[in-house]
Amino acid sequence: MKNSSSSSHSPIHVIGGGLAGSEAAWQIASAGVPVILHEMRGVRGTDAHKTDSLAELVCSNSFRSDDATSNAVGVIHAEMRMAGSLIMACADKHQVPAGGALAVDRDGFSDAVTQTIEANPLITVVREEISGLPPKEWDLAVIATGPLTAPGLAAAIQAETGADSLAFFDAIAPIVYRESINMDVCWYQSRYDKVGPGGTGKDYINCPMDEAQYNAFVDALIAGDTVGFKEWEGTPYFDGCLPIEVMAERGRETLRHGPMKPMGLTNAHNPTVKAYAVVQLRQDNALGTLYNMVGFQTKLKYGAQAEIFRLIPGLENAEFARLGGLHRNTYINSPTLLDRSLTLKSRPGLRFAGQITGCEGYVESASVGLMVGRFAAAERKGEPVLLPPDTTALGSLLNHITGGHIVNDEEPGKRSFQPMNINFGLFPELEPGSIQRPEGVKRFRGKDKTIMKRQLIAKRALKDCAEWLGVAPAMAESA
Ligand SMILES: Cc1cc2nc3c(=O)[nH]c(=O)nc-3n(C[C@H](O)[C@H](O)[C@H](O)COP(=O)(O)OP(=O)(O)OC[C@H]3O[C@@H](n4cnc5c(N)ncnc54)[C@H](O)[C@@H]3O)c2cc1C
Repeated sequence: MKNSSSSSHSPIHVIGGGLAGSEAAWQIASAGVPVILHEMRGVRGTDAHKTDSLAELVCSNSFRSDDATSNAVGVIHAEMRMAGSLIMACADKHQVPAGGALAVDRDGFSDAVTQTIEANPLITVVREEISGLPPKEWDLAVIATGPLTAPGLAAAIQAETGADSLAFFDAIAPIVYRESINMDVCWYQSRYDKVGPGGTGKDYINCPMDEAQYNAFVDALIAGDTVGFKEWEGTPYFDGCLPIEVMAERGRETLRHGPMKPMGLTNAHNPTVKAYAVVQLRQDNALGTLYNMVGFQTKLKYGAQAEIFRLIPGLENAEFARLGGLHRNTYINSPTLLDRSLTLKSRPGLRFAGQITGCEGYVESASVGLMVGRFAAAERKGEPVLLPPDTTALGSLLNHITGGHIVNDEEPGKRSFQPMNINFGLFPELEPGSIQRPEGVKRFRGKDKTIMKRQLIAKRALKDCAEWLGVAPAMAESA
């Protein structure tokens, strides 16, 4: 074991050396605080990892779009680079050609992360499984054990937070940008105009279908290409949470009596004609920019989802902030359990990072590790914990995980928080009047406005991130 006595601070313990844990350890050490990084691979494997390297990419080798001017993933890349991210530095160094995406040589990438971490005099890597909550002597600790957290630790987290607070599978319904829904076809109404706690009686967006449209939709669902479960995942669904295409296969009428039932709903555009079936979308974030398709968890392939869901009247031009899925995934109910600095409310000093917090994806997991590392190091040094502004990609993701997602009040007790990737729907709106037709441009269509909006949000994010980090704005330009 290395000697980390070159720092006057006592160490922070990070459990899990994946994307999030490696980045957290790097950020803590970069702040001059020693870290003990506990990684079980080498002693015990997971069902998905194949190597003992830190930050192994378990599936694709892509970090997705690297366009920081108009793509939310590209913006978070740029912010992470500004914050001195190890994950981004190693990804950049081991990039392979992939058009506008940042893809990496997976072995080169994770070897580079492993070597850099192991060479850092402030970081000690211990290969061991941690099978309970950190002992009290570890006054500052981070749990970054990911979607495949080992069972002993998962059980301990569950015992601390409550049985319903830890999920072992996600069941993600597609999420649609509100601005892409055609309200000339759809209307706002809660079933039977029920107001419910915190509601208005108009809390859902409803998309009507006639009989022919419904039948065509059911046929398309049944014919759609699906992704299979991996053998170790088992078949996680139960009757309360069936994929939409499985419901369609069980009988032509199943959906009409389930998530697509038309009862208690009157089409505001055509009150005399009863819809044969209705797809409902529920507001998903406090900003009101994202709506999720109620009951539409699915194993359909992404391409098939977009095509089939655009058959729904009112969603012809739907843009999806995320598509649906069902995966083995261990994650906590962060909006209720964590404070804004990702500390477990019931255990001061214990933070969570990575996919276990309910973010989704390599980049997002690493970005939450980056934030947690900075927060924990500041706490250790007795400095203020400075949160990123909400207008940044980091801040928007943090905000969503720790409270931006709105709880489903209609079904109290039923968790509605599902993993989320970074997307423009998580960012706060621009100041009114920010989107102006550029001089000399005659036709300025909805699509042009959306592009301009994204560019302005991206620019604002990079500027505010540079300010938060105290780096020169020029760095934002080149990040
Ligand atoms: C099968 C699968 C495929 C995925 N594919 C993609 C994809 O293609 N693209 C994408 O963007 N995202 C993908 N994800 C989602 C997610 O981005 C990755 O899982 C990502 O690695 C999460 O980062 P993390 O740091 O939170 O967890 P991980 O990278 O999984 O790191 C967690 C680490 O903790 C260790 N650990 C677990 N329990 C303990 C313990 N008790 N004690 C000590 N160590 C422990 C593990 O060995 C692991 O190294 C996938 C997820 C899964 C499960």
